[in-house]
Amino acid sequence: MGRPEESRSEVSAVALVGGLGDVLSALSKALQRKGHLVEIVLPKYDCMQYESIQDLRVLDLVVESYFDGQLFKNKIWIGTVEGLPVYFIEPLHPAKFFWRGKTYGEPDDFRRFSFFSRAALELLHQADKKPDIIHCHDWQTAFVAPLYWDLYAPKGLNSARICFTCHNFEYQGTAPASEIASCGLDIHNLNRPDRMQDHSSPDRINPVKGAIVFSNIVTTVSPTYAQEVRTSKGGQGLHATLNAHAQKFVGILNGIDTDSWNPATDSFLRFQYNTNDLEGKAENKKALQRHLGLSFSDSRRPLVGCITRLVPQKGVHLIRHAIYRSLELGGQFVLLGSSPVPDIRREFEEIAKNFENHEHVRLILKYDEALSHSIYASSDMFIIPSIFEPCGLTQMIAMRYGAIPIARKTGGLNDSVFDVDDDTIPVQLRNGYTFVTPNEQGFNGAFDRAFNHYKNDNESWQELINRVMNIDFSWDTSASQYEELYLQSVSRARAARQAAG
Ligand code: ADP
Repeated sequence: MGRPEESRSEVSAVALVGGLGDVLSALSKALQRKGHLVEIVLPKYDCMQYESIQDLRVLDLVVESYFDGQLFKNKIWIGTVEGLPVYFIEPLHPAKFFWRGKTYGEPDDFRRFSFFSRAALELLHQADKKPDIIHCHDWQTAFVAPLYWDLYAPKGLNSARICFTCHNFEYQGTAPASEIASCGLDIHNLNRPDRMQDHSSPDRINPVKGAIVFSNIVTTVSPTYAQEVRTSKGGQGLHATLNAHAQKFVGILNGIDTDSWNPATDSFLRFQYNTNDLEGKAENKKALQRHLGLSFSDSRRPLVGCITRLVPQKGVHLIRHAIYRSLELGGQFVLLGSSPVPDIRREFEEIAKNFENHEHVRLILKYDEALSHSIYASSDMFIIPSIFEPCGLTQMIAMRYGAIPIARKTGGLNDSVFDVDDDTIPVQLRNGYTFVTPNEQGFNGAFDRAFNHYKNDNESWQELINRVMNIDFSWDTSASQYEELYLQSVSRARAARQAAG
């Protein structure tokens, strides 16, 4: 690539799987394409998709890491995932931290991930890695920042800069302060209001707060969300800390993996299509309607899609309302959603039952990747009425598949969906319908306009489809922003070292 040697960054991403996995692999792949050496460190979960890991093998290296006053051995595995080298840490600890049949949501999550954070740093140290950047994601790996400066920088792992990305400030991983000592962190040094002490109580410790204080770079996943979390309303208790560290805090909009989300090549679809030939989109719609037992007699009846976790953040009351409003306006509605919240699950199961045989509404209450692709491809409109949304991926995927987003103006939605009727925005950027007030009236204000547009001006609706399908949501732009942050931080550190002689 002919890149100067000094601009190459070695990035060790210490990460988790799940929705975050998509973001992480896409960012890592984009950085790799730019010529950087990217290595990922993950727990060796029992419940990973082992079939997507190539050449998985155990290394000769056994890493010993500290926990609860003892040293524990860790087996280290290496494999390749989507062309990226990944180290998997298997702790030989009696609690079998990552042998639980799920990634997180265990009562001892704080212990599991503080153990992992320490073992990951120990791996870098013992394998003599010299990363320029250690990039950690979310509270589960937030311990890396204070551990690094307290224990590992003094051990010689001192050329790295720490970048911490918080994908959702709702999840901060707080715990009783005493628990922080297990991984070797100094409770007296860290349980202070300006360090890791949670705002709720002097006896609680907050890993995300620690990562904000101790990282060199702190990011979140959209510019608008970065502004929102700096206010007392949106900051989930961390706004003061974020404001105190504002100079290193920035919001970078995520991209989507445009290789796997591509209607022209998507093997989940019965009919592939592109902007020059939208016939396939109409065929997919008919196929989905057949598959779900919906009426397909009127091709001009708009299909409204929604694919989401059904949690309060996603505006479940507005999703429920949209079902009935779609019917009133003469549309069809398909929801694919799963819910970890029992009350919400029950409520939607009830609604699903009421519409079981309805010709225009179907609720599918599970997680189903294949079906999600068909719904994106079949939808004419796609709703994302979130109360808050750090970035949101579904609006971008929907647009790539030619579904017009109807979104609440919050977080990453505000940075990616621009109202067709908003005169303050250049025409070529307008790509959907938006609303501000999170109630039924607010939602209708956008939804009804979208229906009117669909019904009354087919030509301009088709132009809109073309426009949204051509928007570049790839990771390239975002990865360049991360690269820029890394390089600035690395060169600042070099200059400081040189100045110190
Ligand atoms: P969040 O990470 O808060 O759940 P995002 O919009 O960032 O929301 O990402 C959601 C991702 O999960 C999208 O890729 C979406 O297609 C997928 N998804 C959400 N719910 C389902 C479901 N029930 N079945 C299949 N995929 C889903």
